[in-house]
Order: sequence, then C-alpha cells, then structure tokens
Amino acid sequence: MKFNTKTIHAGQKPEETSGSVMPPVFFTSTYAQEAPNKHKGHEYARVTNPTRTALENLLSGLEDARCTCAFASGCAAMDALLKMLRPGDHVVATNDLYGGSYRLFKEVFEPFGISFSFVDMRSVDNVGKAITPDTRMLWVETPTNPLLKIADIAGIAGLGKHHGAYTVVDNTFASPALQQPLNQGADAVVHSTTKYLGGHSDLIGGAVSTSNDEIYENLTFQTKTTGAVPGPMDCYLALRGIKTLSLRVERSCQNARALADYLRNHPMTGDVRYPGHSDHPGHEIAAKQMSDFGGMVSFSLKSDDQESAEKFMSNTSVFTLAESLGGVESLISHPASMTHASIPKNIREEAGLKDSLIRLSVGIEDIDDLIADLDSAFDSL
Ligand SMILES: *Cc1c(COP(=O)(O)O)cnc(C)c1O
Repeated sequence: MKFNTKTIHAGQKPEETSGSVMPPVFFTSTYAQEAPNKHKGHEYARVTNPTRTALENLLSGLEDARCTCAFASGCAAMDALLKMLRPGDHVVATNDLYGGSYRLFKEVFEPFGISFSFVDMRSVDNVGKAITPDTRMLWVETPTNPLLKIADIAGIAGLGKHHGAYTVVDNTFASPALQQPLNQGADAVVHSTTKYLGGHSDLIGGAVSTSNDEIYENLTFQTKTTGAVPGPMDCYLALRGIKTLSLRVERSCQNARALADYLRNHPMTGDVRYPGHSDHPGHEIAAKQMSDFGGMVSFSLKSDDQESAEKFMSNTSVFTLAESLGGVESLISHPASMTHASIPKNIREEAGLKDSLIRLSVGIEDIDDLIADLDSAFDSL
C-alpha cells in the first residue's frame, strides 16, 4: 500500500457490529468478562482501549513498524521509552533538542543515575566519539528544533548497531509523511501526535513505534504499569487528523518553500534556515532521507536583536504567536523564551540558538496571505 492510502486505511477496518467506517470512541474503563479471564481481548482500559488500538495500528502502518504504543503526550512517550534505561546507562543526544526533551533528560532521568552527552549530530563522527561502553541509546532529532539541522539517520543507526545501542528518532518535525526512520535503520520512532499527525491543534498525544521486541515489551509494560495513556477522544481526534496528513503536509511544505525563498530575498532578514535550500549544510542528506523538506522555517532579522524579533512576532496577524507546530494554522514563535526556555542560555548559544531567532510553523493557508502578513510585520519595524 502506498503512503497516501495508508493514512486512510492502514490497520483500519469498518467496525464489526455496525459497519461504522470510523472507529467508535469507546468511553469505558472496563470490559465485561464471561468468566474470569475469558473476554474479548480487553480487560481494563489502562491496558487497552479499541479506539487507542485503532490509532496504534494506523501509526504502525505509517512508520512501517510492527507495533506502536500511544501515550498521553509526546513527553509521556519519551518518558516511557527512557524507562528502559538503568542507573549507569548513558545516552548520546543531539545538542539542538526540543526543550521539553532536554528538561526530561536533565531533571528527571539524570538524578536517577542516567547520563547524557549532547553533541552536534550533523556529524556522524561526533556521535561515534561520544559513545562509551555504557551507551545504550542514541537520541536523534532531524530536522532539529528549532535550528533545522539535519542528522544522517542511517549513518547514526549504523553506529548504534555496531555499539549495541538503540537509535531513537524523534520524528515529530518531519512526520512519517516525509521520513520513516525505521526504514533507515532506527530502532524506535517517537512522536508528539500533538503536532503534524493530529494536525489541528486540538489534542495532546504521543506515540512510540518500533519493530523491536525488547522495546515493545518495555512500552506495553510501561503503559500498563505507569499508565500515561491517552483518552479515547484524543485517540479519535488523532485518527481523524491523520486521514488528511498527506494533503496537509504537502501544502505546508509548498508554503514553507515559498516563504523561505521570500525571506531569503528580503533585505531585512539575516540567516534563513530551511533544509530545502541547496546551500543548507544538511541539504543533501535531507534530500536523501526525506521526501520533502518540511513546513518549518527559522530565521533571524538582519539587525539580529531580540527586541526587533519580539516586535516582529507581535505584529503578525495571520501567523499566531504561539508554541507548538504542525497544525493547519501558521504559527510564529520565539524559541529562546518559549519552547526552549528550559535550556540554559549558554547551552542554547553553544548549539547556535540565539535570542534573536524566529521560528515559523507554516500552515496550509493561502501563500499570498502569509507573505502579506510577514510583509506588514517587516513594515512595522
Ligand atoms: C512538542 C514536541 C515534543 C513533546 O510533545 P508533547 O505532545 O507536547 O508532550 C517532543 N518532541 C518534539 C520535537 C516536539 O516538537
């Protein structure tokens, strides 16, 4: 089945009792049993819920994974996966990381004796140099948030296999519509379904997809034991959102390309970061491992100061100033004070994240309105 067909049909079939083409939202906490332990496959809704199972099967189809566990948020999904680790274990992670991931690593897992090295994963060699005999996981984001750096998934996964460490890719930014990390050798894929998968800024959710038995067993154990599961309504919204994933991502990529070109040619912009530009340092790898370059664009103003950046962001009207990304509506944000505020300033700056950086999540509106909106924000400076 081709990807566009999978978004509608993977793992889905009409509901058996009524023929309903969309899975019903099963609002229940428990399931009737005929005799102790004789039941229709469901015992208690922390463990399984048919609406959640439908979403998990769909995500497995999109990521070419054997199995998926859905969670209450992207952070809960990462938390469940990291709980495979034990004191003394070591993780190599990208140094340009979602702020919430950084906080989870440093403030929750490090105090339990798990150590993290943050490296620039644009170079596979940097990852190799950071690996120690205790390294159990390589944590990749590509494109990274918010600097849109590109890491070579196959190259890093090859290192992971060689050293007996799992390669995990947070695929939230690309979405499976553009990139399927398991097919490039990764062992697990993490998603915040809150973003492109849900696509309508109306839910919080997460998932991990994998074809590895040890990882899957850990995830189902975590689901049952620590219980950060999504409710059936959020699962339904994610299922519904995914039906249009291909169309939304296609339009968003098209708009992002046009905006990246517009920004590059504007006399008041400084750096424009967009992996689709042929002089972006990760362009070739992005072209190899992604089917398009995504809906995210980051840039700074020529004046390169935080005050003008903030003024710019406060003066858009089609672009909403807000955290998050991947929805149908375009958003503008200031990573240094919003999504990445939990990363100390010196560490942010080491990775290249300046206080003047502006991040766009480009939605599916008409490109003329998006350009006109940025035009008027430039005029306001
Ligand atoms: C938003 C996000 C997360 C966290 O997901 P939540 O659903 O907000 O918990 C993780 N990684 C990336 C790259 C994100 O953008």
